[in-house]
Amino acid sequence: MNRWTWQQLHGLEYITVPSWQEKGAQVVFTARTGGLSSQPCHSLNLALHVGDDPEKVVHNRQLLMQLFGLGLEDMVSCQQIHGSEVGIVSRKDRSSGAYSDQTALCGWDGMITDQTDLALATFYADCIPLFFFDPARRVIAVSHSGWKGTYLQIAAKTVQAMVKTMGSVPGDIQAFIGPGIGACCYRVQPDLVQKVKDRFRDFSDIIYEDEHGYTWDLKATNEQILMLAGIPWDNIITCPLCTACYPERFFSYRRDQGQTGRMGAAIALRK
Ligand SMILES: [Zn+2]
Repeated sequence: MNRWTWQQLHGLEYITVPSWQEKGAQVVFTARTGGLSSQPCHSLNLALHVGDDPEKVVHNRQLLMQLFGLGLEDMVSCQQIHGSEVGIVSRKDRSSGAYSDQTALCGWDGMITDQTDLALATFYADCIPLFFFDPARRVIAVSHSGWKGTYLQIAAKTVQAMVKTMGSVPGDIQAFIGPGIGACCYRVQPDLVQKVKDRFRDFSDIIYEDEHGYTWDLKATNEQILMLAGIPWDNIITCPLCTACYPERFFSYRRDQGQTGRMGAAIALRK
């Protein structure tokens, strides 16, 4: 049985993790359908920086927040600069980045909170969304792990920040690796392969070579990083869906050559 599942609500399709929902953390990863935007962002584009009509994006973001039963003012987002800084979100950060990128939390690619009914939201077209939940301490996090974030091991940095600032124990932390580009579609150049091989000791399951060159499995790399950070294998759930393989379902930066929208990966603690 899959530990993640598709759900539908108010005309939107999204992926969630039912076992987390039961314990008080709601996960949403949106499909590209059900929104107002036109091509190339058709139709549930959630990012303001891709040239889409900002009014439509704000409306689409309101649709996302309806899945939580919350308003757009309850969203918090961060800049996502392909770095590895992870910050703590408190109640005073409510609405940061919700209506404008100018107010998004600066310099961060990951967010952690112990506050209820704040949705931590990040945006994707191929990069890997990492969701975290510590049911013992009631702490959640989300981190943006593209190739740079993966290389910089933002997954481990998120776990370390949860331990240091929230008192989480790695053995209690659950992780969900959401949809993102798969090894099937993520071709990389030899110079990057060498960097990956230098950084990750066990690369036999993360870099593949065929007659056309190399591919990199970012999800498997994040699994490896999470396990080395102390997360038990049974606590890691991975969605194998590749964003580049399903044009009707997902935006893909690689497939659409940069001209595309962004899906949302959001998580909120519930009462
Ligand atoms: Zn693929």
